[in-house]
Amino acid sequence: MQVLAHKLRYADGQFRGTSGVIATAVLEGPSGIALVDPGPTSDLSSLEADLASGGLSLDDVEALLLTHIHLDHAGATGTIVRRRPGCRVYVHERGARHMASPEKLIASATQIYGDQMGPLWGEFAAVPETNLHVLRGGEQIQAAGHDLEVAYTPGHAQHHVSYFHRASRTAFVGDTGGCRTAVMRTVMPPTPPPDIDVAAWHASVARILEWQPEALFMTHFGPVTAVAAHLGELLDRLEVMQQLARRLLADQGLSEEERESGFVEQLRGIFRQQLSEVELRRLELGVPFGMCWGGLARALRKA
Ligand SMILES: [Zn+2]
Repeated sequence: MQVLAHKLRYADGQFRGTSGVIATAVLEGPSGIALVDPGPTSDLSSLEADLASGGLSLDDVEALLLTHIHLDHAGATGTIVRRRPGCRVYVHERGARHMASPEKLIASATQIYGDQMGPLWGEFAAVPETNLHVLRGGEQIQAAGHDLEVAYTPGHAQHHVSYFHRASRTAFVGDTGGCRTAVMRTVMPPTPPPDIDVAAWHASVARILEWQPEALFMTHFGPVTAVAAHLGELLDRLEVMQQLARRLLADQGLSEEERESGFVEQLRGIFRQQLSEVELRRLELGVPFGMCWGGLARALRKA
């Protein structure tokens, strides 16, 4: 486990055996811990091992703070609640019903991942409604003895929230803050289907900046302290990706497959200017570029 600030650490779920892809923030309190984005069930044993290296256990979990319900962030929630039946689960109101009845979420993910669903994510167990604490944004909550402020931050997902830990001035921003590893000199806005909204994303970044955070914590992967530069770069890259998708959509001579492969290749070209091949592969493991095409193309066609 890595130290983030006083009473804050984070663990690595070793997604598909790779470190630096999915980070789970750990808030330590007097009687237990809270986790921000526990990750998928497939990573749970690695997460447990990393918690154990810090003297902690899943049996200590009092609360799960979900930034959003995508499988790589929230997949293990129901599995943990089964083990910790009193555990509180914080989630935006638009995601809550899918946590209680995940059938639709699982069906749409299965369309994308097919028979890789199990190996990639493991079980997505339903969360009993009594465990769910539904958020809209604007709340003040307490988790494992820590005070947190909640903001509604859509753009990547319409049910995305961020949490601000004022005591350490750390904002837990999920995927609204983009993806950036410790060694990455750049940031990637993940744009999967179905509800990418570039304008909402801009507004969410402005909302996060209102907190004047000294650090951002991203699920992919970990803390960033150059907050304004990071978020500025995130929005610039989002614009570049949207322009690229717009150009490919406007080219009538291309098939849908050619548009997607064109997007993926050109985006790789952009990232190769700043990333090694190893780092690019790690990035694509967390955020497949073809999926980013799907999300942006869908948003542009809807507009
Ligand atoms: Zn994610």
